[in-house]
Amino acid sequence: MKNDILAGKRLTTDDPTNNIQILLNYAYAKDGRVFLRYGNGEEDIDLCEYVAETAAENYCNHTPDEIMDGACMECDCPFAILYVVAIQAAELRARLKEYEDKTERAVRDFK
Ligand SMILES: [Zn+2]
Repeated sequence: MKNDILAGKRLTTDDPTNNIQILLNYAYAKDGRVFLRYGNGEEDIDLCEYVAETAAENYCNHTPDEIMDGACMECDCPFAILYVVAIQAAELRARLKEYEDKTERAVRDFK
C-alpha cells in the first residue's frame, strides 16, 4: 500500500468504492455489534454470526450470543483471534470516523 494513496484523504467511509476502502473499513461497528463487510461474500454479516457458522464446521459450536459473550475466548479456538481483531478494528475505525467527521465539519464550517 503506497502512502500517497492515503495522503490527505479520510480513511473511513460507510460506502467504500474500491479495494483499499473496503480493506480499511472491513470491520465496522453498528448498533453495538461488529459487522464484516461482504463477510459471506455477498453482504455484510454480523461478526458473531459469521464466527458461529464458520467455527461450527470444524471447531466449537456456540450460538452468536454465546460468542458475543466471549465463548471463543474461553474455548480458545482459532476464531478467538478473529473475534478480538475484528472488535479492535471496528472500535478503532469508529473512533477514527468520529474524528474524521468532526474535522470535515470544522473545515466545512470554516470556509
Ligand atoms: Zn470457539
